Amino acid sequence: MNAQRLLETFCDLVRISSPSKEEAEVAIWCAAALKEAGCTVRFDESAVTTGSDTGNLIAYLPPSPGVEETATLYFSAHMDTVNPGRGIEPIIGEDGIIRSTGETVLGGDDKSGIAPIIELVRTLAEGNRPHPRIGVLLSTCEEIGLLGAAAMDNAQFHDEPCFVLDAGGAPGYVIIGSPFHHTYKATFTGKASHAGILPEEGISAIMLAGKAIVAMEQGRLDAFTTANVGTIVGGLADNIVPETCMISGEFRAMEPARRDYVQAEMEARMREAAATGGGSVEIIWKAEYEGFTISEDDPLVRFVLDTARELGLPADAAFSGGGSDANFLNSRGLRPLVLGTGMTEVHSTREALAIRDLEDTCRLIEALAYNWQEQRMGL
Ligand SMILES: [Zn+2]
Repeated sequence: MNAQRLLETFCDLVRISSPSKEEAEVAIWCAAALKEAGCTVRFDESAVTTGSDTGNLIAYLPPSPGVEETATLYFSAHMDTVNPGRGIEPIIGEDGIIRSTGETVLGGDDKSGIAPIIELVRTLAEGNRPHPRIGVLLSTCEEIGLLGAAAMDNAQFHDEPCFVLDAGGAPGYVIIGSPFHHTYKATFTGKASHAGILPEEGISAIMLAGKAIVAMEQGRLDAFTTANVGTIVGGLADNIVPETCMISGEFRAMEPARRDYVQAEMEARMREAAATGGGSVEIIWKAEYEGFTISEDDPLVRFVLDTARELGLPADAAFSGGGSDANFLNSRGLRPLVLGTGMTEVHSTREALAIRDLEDTCRLIEALAYNWQEQRMGL
């Protein structure tokens, strides 16, 4: 690893604006860097589905001379960043921490993943230690619903491991589970009437929705289950008994059985509130993405934790309440594991990244690639 080059790559990457659906410029930059390092690079057809100005970037670095092309080790990150994310200028503090000017996010989510992957490829290509074939997946539109990963061309995937560099937590932190994520829109219908003259004739849809919300469990339901009503819209004027009220929300659960139970419960509470109040409700559910769990004893998890320990990094496996590209890559022919990159306060203008963490992420994935070959993990 060339630490100075890694830092420069990170700063170059965050200076290129790449809001969701506008990843082309950063994609071209990455494609050039990966090609120069010896990768074959192509873009898939996902732009048709995602609406981005580019497809996902898919690159391969051939194995080192003498190493058979048996299995590919994949590394992935997403190219888009959240708002405010145009015109990012990284500022390196004397404390060794990179921040934005305070006007924008830093974009470490997820360029703290991309920069180490590019440095990994350069290092492997320059060195003479045996390494396996490396696959690089840089996705689009992760922040607006994992759209790029969902539409990823998966023709070349054969159940290989894929390290997704896209989580907070120190390098060495491994996510071994992420929940199923479901959202809903529920439209309650009552009956409009004059609020002062004939309130008896009216059925307040806001009251129906309110009773449903109170009856539904919210917040943290258990260690692995959460629920939230996120928006509410209803009514026309203070003197009209409101005829409609729409609420939208989500829940997340780790196990399919728990997911089905929570969904059925929420639906029952909403229907009950509507029916007892004399109104009705129409509920539209959407499965945003599927959850996954991996055993802490899984050989791949143990391999990462052992490698992290070898480097003196905190080796830690835990569940996450959030989703990432891994939730889709998991159902698209890869075995993804999400790794922490040290990013902090993401999705805020206080976002920061320690140079030390950027370097440790790179050291870790470099060791993963070499150890994978040495321990003949793919065989
Ligand atoms: Zn991210």
